[in-house]
Amino acid sequence: MSAPRVVSVAAASAAQRAGLLVGDELLAIDGRVPRDVIEYRLFVDEADPELLVRRGHEELALLVEKADGEPLGAEVSSAVFDRVRTCDNHCAFCFIYQLPKGLRRSLYVKDDDYRLSFLYGNFTTLTRFTELDLERVVREGLSPLFVSIHTTDPQLRASMLRNRRGATSLRWLAALLEAGVEVHGQVVVCPGVNDGPALEATMAGILDQYPGLATVACVPLGVSRFSGEAAMRPHERHEAVAVLDTVEQWQALFLAALGRRMVFAADEYYLLAGRPFPEAEAYEGFPQHENGVGMARAFAAAFGGDEGAAHGVRHGFFAAVDGAPAAGYRAPRLAAGAVGTAPPDGPVVVLTGEYGQAVLGPLLAEWGFGDVEVRAVPNAFFGGNIAVSGLMAGADVSRALVGVPDDHRVLLPDVCLSEGRFIDGTRLDDLPRAVEVVAGDGLSLRRALETLRR
Ligand code: SF4
Repeated sequence: MSAPRVVSVAAASAAQRAGLLVGDELLAIDGRVPRDVIEYRLFVDEADPELLVRRGHEELALLVEKADGEPLGAEVSSAVFDRVRTCDNHCAFCFIYQLPKGLRRSLYVKDDDYRLSFLYGNFTTLTRFTELDLERVVREGLSPLFVSIHTTDPQLRASMLRNRRGATSLRWLAALLEAGVEVHGQVVVCPGVNDGPALEATMAGILDQYPGLATVACVPLGVSRFSGEAAMRPHERHEAVAVLDTVEQWQALFLAALGRRMVFAADEYYLLAGRPFPEAEAYEGFPQHENGVGMARAFAAAFGGDEGAAHGVRHGFFAAVDGAPAAGYRAPRLAAGAVGTAPPDGPVVVLTGEYGQAVLGPLLAEWGFGDVEVRAVPNAFFGGNIAVSGLMAGADVSRALVGVPDDHRVLLPDVCLSEGRFIDGTRLDDLPRAVEVVAGDGLSLRRALETLRR
C-alpha cells in the first residue's frame, strides 16, 4: 500500500481552506485508508471529513469543513494505492509481449484490474475477479466495465489466455450483467484461432448467454516485429472481408432480436478489406470509439463541424471527474507547456500513421484542403502490421520529416504523445525540426488548418 500524494489543491477549495498542501501524503480519511481513487472520492464526498496526512516527518489531522457532495478540490498522484492487480494470463496475442525492451515501465504492466476498467476503460478478462469484487462493483456502482471475451467457447478461451481459469471466468460476466452493470466486450480476432466458425460461435454464444452486453468490438490482432509467437500473424485481406461479413450478418440478427446492433468491427477491418466505413448512425453513438471502432467516421463528422463527434465517447470514470491523473495508464498527451514551436507560414504537411493517411487524404480533399500534404509515417519501430497514429515513434517521425522544406508547417496529432513523449521515449525536442501538435480529433485539425490559411 502506498499512500497517495496530493499533486494539486484548487484555489478557494475546501481542501485549501483546511490547509492541505501539494506534497502531503494522504494516510486516512475519517480513519479509513482508501485503496484507490474510487474510495478516495467516495470518502471525501462526505460532509466534514477528517484527513490524516503525512507532511515531511510529521503526521497532521486536518478537519475539512465542507458539505456532503461538495468537491474537496484536491488531486492525488495515482489511481490505485494498493497494488494494481496484474493478469495471470499469457495470451499469445498480448501486445505487451511484443514491445521492445527499454520503454517506460508503465507500458509493461499487464493489468487485469476491474478498477482500471472502470477508471480508464481498460479491458479485463475477469480471471482474477472474485465474489468480493462483484459485491464492490455492485455496491459502488462501478459501471461501465470493459471485458475481454475473445470467444465464448470455454476450452478455446482457456487456450487463448493460456490460463485454465479462462474457461470459467466469463461466469463473472454473466453475474455482472445480472446485477445490471453496463459491460462492453471485445474480441481480439486472431486469424486461424478464433475467426471463421469460432467467431460465428462466439456471436451465437453472446446472443444466447450474454444478451445484456452493451456492445462487443471485434478488433484485429496487432503483430509487431518483436512477436515470438509463430502462430500469430496479421489478417490477410480475405480474412478481414470474412470478419466484416460475420459482423454485418450478426448486426442484422442482433437488431432483429434486441433492437440494437451489439457487435461492431474496428476501423482497421474496413481499411484492410477496402470497404467503405458504415455511416455514423450505424455506430449507435460510438460506444467503442476508444477501441478503434468508428474513429474514422467520428473524425470525419467532427471535421465536418459536428462538435459532439469531436470527442467521441470517452470511456471510464475519468471521462467525467477529476481526482487522480491517469499517469501510467492513460496519461495526458502533453506535459504542461510542451508544445511545438510555430514555424513560419507556408504549405502544410500533416503527419499521421499509414491507416490515418488512408482516411485523411480523401477527407481533406473532400473539404477543400487538397493542397495539404498528408504524409504517412511508416512504423519501423514496431514493424509488423502496426499502422495506427497512436503508436508512431519519434524516430519514425524524424525519418518522415526528412525532405520537408523549411518553409512548410508540420502538424502532428497528439495521440502519439504521452506527457510529451513518443512511445520510444523521445520528445518533441528530439525531432529535427519544429512541429505543431494538434489534438487528435477532426474538429481540432479542421480549426488548425483554417487558422493556418488566414
Ligand atoms: S490478459 Fe491482456 S495483459 Fe494479460 S496476457 Fe492477455 S493480453 Fe496480455
